[in-house]
Amino acid sequence: MVVLMQSGASEEQIQHVIDRLVSLGFDIHRSTGASHTVVGAIGVGPDFDPRDIEVLSGVREVVRVTQPYKLANRAFKAEDTIVHFPNGVCIGGPEIVVAAGPCAVESADQIEIIAARVAELGARILRGGAFKPRTSPYSFQGMGEPGLHLLRQAADRHGLLVVSEIMDASQLPLMQPLVDILQVGARNMQNYHMLRALGAARRPVLLKRGLSATIEELLLAAEYIMSGGNHNVILCERGIRTFETATRNTMDIAALPVIKKLSHLPVFADPSQGTGRRDQVAPMARAALAAGADGLLIEVHNDPERALSDGAQSLYFDQFAKLMSELRMIAPAVGRRLA
Ligand code: PEP
Ligand code: MN
Repeated sequence: MVVLMQSGASEEQIQHVIDRLVSLGFDIHRSTGASHTVVGAIGVGPDFDPRDIEVLSGVREVVRVTQPYKLANRAFKAEDTIVHFPNGVCIGGPEIVVAAGPCAVESADQIEIIAARVAELGARILRGGAFKPRTSPYSFQGMGEPGLHLLRQAADRHGLLVVSEIMDASQLPLMQPLVDILQVGARNMQNYHMLRALGAARRPVLLKRGLSATIEELLLAAEYIMSGGNHNVILCERGIRTFETATRNTMDIAALPVIKKLSHLPVFADPSQGTGRRDQVAPMARAALAAGADGLLIEVHNDPERALSDGAQSLYFDQFAKLMSELRMIAPAVGRRLA
């Protein structure tokens, strides 16, 4: 349930509403916006009568939220969530943020060459997996911890933030000091034990949509993280599994405006996993930006043909350069700019 206070409601009135809700057994999350305060109340009982709250002074409206997620719900927080980083990068504001890099960190040279180039072309975040969730246990599984250090060092040399996938809650102490954004992979979107652990983490989380997850399930996964106290969640559409076999996954561009309407959280798009083919990455990246994505996650490799994972969907540097210049032109047409 969401209690929308009148714009001039006094602190005393707000506190009275909160005290009443607490005495009724609700968990309270208060959000103070520019024009009014919203009090989110979680744990609504079946015999609760909303009129008990509606009649309190200073209350404008009581809305019973029918969606099962509350903290991720736009009804609870009308303003877009902006995730801020110490180096000034903001995700969810007017600027579109591009995260680029290889699917996996493969060597010191590889990650250095890629970091230098993507930074020069305007990416603000370096991506690269050190722990890779591969479909086959015989495929390259990532470099592990040494890969994380190489990723961090290359990013620092070029002023980039780092995003990398966490595959298990036990990796949090290792990863937290080394990455700026913890990526939850599609296969782990419903690893609720890990989502809870990330709720206590001090790093923003990039939460990817599961291969066959509905948007509601994605938002409920975000709710797990947020209910633990970590509200810096960035959602990511990365394609879903459908009957279509022409692309690796079906890039659900429509999910972007749907999520934007349902939630205040920022949303990224990953057209690399979304299509699985480098010739389709740029068109889907352009479409995602136009459809409201706050950022893009793009696989770029210095030698895609010899990449240890996802080479076929990794862009050559010149393709990435061209895409960045296209994004720079598209962004102003939809009221955004490239960070
Ligand atoms: C990746 O980003 O390389 C990756 C494995 O992503 P996903 O979890 O979306 O498959
Ligand atoms: Mn990949």
